Amino acid sequence: MFAKIIIDQDAKALDKVFEYQIPDDMQVAVGERVIVPFGSRNLQGFIVDICDSCSYDEDKVKPILQKIENFSVIKKEMLELMKYMAEKLHLKLASILRLFLPSEMRTDKVKELVVRYVKLAPEFEMPSARAGKQLQIVGFLQENQSQKFADVSNMFGYAALNALVKKGVVLVEENQELRAPAFDVMKKDVKKLTPLQQRAVDSICENKTYLLHGVTGSGKTEVYMNLIERQLERGKTALMLVPEISLTPQVLANFKARFGDNVALIHSGLSAGERFDEWKRIFFGQAKVVVGARSAIFCPLENLGIIIIDEEHEQSYISESNPRYDTHMVAEFRRNYNDCTLVLGSATPSIESYSKAIDGEFQLVEMPVRVNGMEMPKIVVIDMLTEMQQGNNQIFSIPLIYELRNIVEQKKQAMIFINRRGFSSFQRCRQCGYVATCTDCDVSLVYHRFEDRLKCHYCGKRFKALDICPSCGSKDIKQGAVGTERVVEELHKLFPEVRILRMDNDTTSKKNGHREILNEFKNTKPAILVGTQMIAKGHDFEDVLLVGIIDADQSLYQSDFRSIERTFQLITQVSGRAGRSEKQGRVILQTYSPRHYVYRFATNYDYKGFFKKEVNLRKVTNFPPYARIVRILFSHENENIVAQECKLCYNKVKEIKEQYQNEFVYLDVMKAPLNKIKNKFRYQIMMRFKLDKADEIEKKIFESVDEKTKSSVFFEINPNNLS
Ligand code: ADP
Ligand code: ZN
Ligand code: ZN
Repeated sequence: MFAKIIIDQDAKALDKVFEYQIPDDMQVAVGERVIVPFGSRNLQGFIVDICDSCSYDEDKVKPILQKIENFSVIKKEMLELMKYMAEKLHLKLASILRLFLPSEMRTDKVKELVVRYVKLAPEFEMPSARAGKQLQIVGFLQENQSQKFADVSNMFGYAALNALVKKGVVLVEENQELRAPAFDVMKKDVKKLTPLQQRAVDSICENKTYLLHGVTGSGKTEVYMNLIERQLERGKTALMLVPEISLTPQVLANFKARFGDNVALIHSGLSAGERFDEWKRIFFGQAKVVVGARSAIFCPLENLGIIIIDEEHEQSYISESNPRYDTHMVAEFRRNYNDCTLVLGSATPSIESYSKAIDGEFQLVEMPVRVNGMEMPKIVVIDMLTEMQQGNNQIFSIPLIYELRNIVEQKKQAMIFINRRGFSSFQRCRQCGYVATCTDCDVSLVYHRFEDRLKCHYCGKRFKALDICPSCGSKDIKQGAVGTERVVEELHKLFPEVRILRMDNDTTSKKNGHREILNEFKNTKPAILVGTQMIAKGHDFEDVLLVGIIDADQSLYQSDFRSIERTFQLITQVSGRAGRSEKQGRVILQTYSPRHYVYRFATNYDYKGFFKKEVNLRKVTNFPPYARIVRILFSHENENIVAQECKLCYNKVKEIKEQYQNEFVYLDVMKAPLNKIKNKFRYQIMMRFKLDKADEIEKKIFESVDEKTKSSVFFEINPNNLS
């Protein structure tokens, strides 16, 4: 018998299926990991197929050396998924398979947790009366049977216990145990569903894809939990994805309280050992509900009844490092394979998903009001240019300071949100609010400090950095945004007695940092929490009555066709933190572009109006969902090589474009906006084409890339981030 094997290595030359002979005395199955000889080395590989014959000289085929585990680590569904992803995304097979396993498994760094237990031997001789400690241990074990070695040793001393073990009075047993992540403990709290929630739960009942559009505070989590419960009752399993930053202790505790030991968790806060053990619990069917961030979409749950993607619009669902994939696409595959339900939930669905709901591809389920019937917080837009002209040069507008003072006096809480996305920034005139946009693409230009140039990330055009505003002639040009530290400092000056907490990448980097800050905030009144995107979602604090948004425009002027959509989403999410219990909340939104249409729709919570406007714009300008953007990125240490290989590929794509003249909206080759990362030069081919023949064109483009390039080549479809 012969096995087809994928070698677990990155090299492009190894990205295919190799054949090996299965020794007569070895039992193997598809999906198992084995060690095989390769050249002069022994390498790890995955068995993807077993056959009677092999395609070349049977005598020369080398044998498999040994098995790594005695079970198939890659299940059948995942092998199918691998093929699908390889075809759709042109990823290397080994790099896909790796997504399916905890990295600990491949590097062998994590040892299994072995716990030693002690108990009395069936027959033994009583220790002499002089050995008091030993007698105590015997007495203790007579009463308590099997106990942890470490506990008994702590209670009565290591020497006495060890002496008993040596004499054979006490037997030691080793038990393999699984490490479990820590939880905040919470009481199980099953709420009676509101009629809207009940309607949602009732209508999400078929094996289809549903878009659950529910305003912030409409109680989507409770709906998810009910849907999951129903699947458990039917003997099925459930997978729920949440953005990493909303995997808050509160959410986790809630799920643990509801589903007990059925829940497994996958998130970045776990230790390597915990992650490995959670994966095993899922793999062997002990955990039936998985809650996790993006990578959990690959977890080996069998018999899936439902997949839920909460905050489905979040860009973190698109992996931007290699291998690059889109979680929605994988979820659709698994839904189809398992013939189960997929729920995409959001208060602000992505334009792409909502379009599909309108077109009938997804089933739309709506929850337009908050659970407690509270009105949505009132959003007040403050024009910072006017503030400045009236002599206020501070970070905070006068109305925001006034409202903060109110909160402090009432001993309530406020959140100040600082809108910071990525590292790039735009330049803006402080007098008239002008922001430079690309003459060809109508997206904002990004300022690159190193070259002192403005660049368009879609077409690569470069422009002189602003020193005089082309619109009003002012020299007062500002770039970049204020940071969280600055804001905290200013707040201290205004409110020296009030506790001010900061939550950003710096303050949450240590384990549990996140949890400690939130717990302190929860228990302090009055208090102000200052933070970045991290505070934008998921949190449910009843005493937060005010939200301040500093620099709302920051996300508006990212060079990105989704930047306006993102701004709308952010404002809605952040505002959703206020007024979640008895009192209506208030939001102060500070901007330099108060007349931008996004604020008009956002302040009225008019998602549908916004959607109409935005989707029309996309249609007219040929952006997704009405067109597809493909970027092919080449990178290599040698700039000549990468430039040349990229150019060669471009010439081939140009030929494809000639066949599809009517489809192509745009095609060009250029240096990537960030031309060099980690000493590798980066060049890219950017293109945009209409949808009618998109799949056909995409396939030809994939095929046009030479397999033997020295550069690394990556494909991205409708990328989120063009750097
Ligand atoms: P969303 O995710 O839609 O923003 P949440 O799921 O966070 O909303 O729910 C908002 C609040 O309403 C939470 O405090 C939650 O505990 C509460 N809640 C949800 N459903 C009910 C219900 N049926 N009865 C009472 N309170 C509820
Ligand atoms: Zn451009
Ligand atoms: Zn100006």
